[in-house]
Amino acid sequence: IGRFWAPINTLASFYNSLLTAMSYLERIFETIDEEVTVKDNEGATEMPPIVGDVEFRDVTFSYEDGVPILNGVSFHVKPGETYAIVGPTGAGKSTIINLISRFYNLDSGELFIDGIDINSVTIKSLRKQMGVMLQDSFIFSGTIMDNIRYGNMEASNEEVVAAAKTVCAHDFIMGLENGYDTEVNERGSRLSAGQRQLISFARALLADPKILILDEATSSIDTETEILLQEGLAKLLAGRTSFIIAHRLSTIKNSDKIMYVDGGQIIELGNHDELMALEGKYYDLYMSQYDFLR
Ligand code: ADP
Repeated sequence: IGRFWAPINTLASFYNSLLTAMSYLERIFETIDEEVTVKDNEGATEMPPIVGDVEFRDVTFSYEDGVPILNGVSFHVKPGETYAIVGPTGAGKSTIINLISRFYNLDSGELFIDGIDINSVTIKSLRKQMGVMLQDSFIFSGTIMDNIRYGNMEASNEEVVAAAKTVCAHDFIMGLENGYDTEVNERGSRLSAGQRQLISFARALLADPKILILDEATSSIDTETEILLQEGLAKLLAGRTSFIIAHRLSTIKNSDKIMYVDGGQIIELGNHDELMALEGKYYDLYMSQYDFLR
């Protein structure tokens, strides 16, 4: 009987890891409305377990020939650090995060993860160790339990609940008519934007990626939920390298470094106090567009 089940188990675990990868990647694929053409280089090897050191070395990039988008971007993130990326629309923020999961090849420069050139490893082995959360939290038809378990299909009910507790989602879930068994649908009806985000935090925690990429939602959220999100996000970020295209002031201030991007270049890099003391672009943004940052 063992032999009979073996292939099915293999298939099931393949399907599960596929779902895990999909939950994070399909959203980003959806936002890139062109054919993704990046392929594994010849002789590409498996990416070893990621620790979380990320380095851009003089990276230049263009989507179309002759239209440079990133010009000489260099930075070095240590394992576990949180980087908030800010700057005007069209500055190149999303482009930077798209390059980390190798959605495009660089024009020049190098991109290392744990000192390994990401061109030398398979795209699949790289992406399966990363989590990507886009602005609109992904909810599918099913129970809250299933929606969270999507992060790791092998997680038990207890593990799902533990993850929800860690990111401060448990209390609101228990307040729903059927708790974790409450049915929700794709549009996430009956869940507020903040609640959808809490669900996606729990899901991401279960997936446990070493590198987390987050495009923070801009939707306005009541103060109470805002505090929960702030706490939940801090728990989610602990122990992993993360890049957040940040909109919330609390997220920006709590990050280890703030990267101010404009015109495809890093104009300023430092923590909140350092950049405020600089009285440069970030200072201006903070002072004049406080509302925008919130
Ligand atoms: P941000 O995230 O800071 O708003 P993006 O990284 O999305 O900025 O965009 C930077 C620039 O690259 C913009 O001028 C944008 O129009 C251009 N761009 C983004 N994606 C594509 C694409 N797929 N093809 C061509 N140009 C693009």
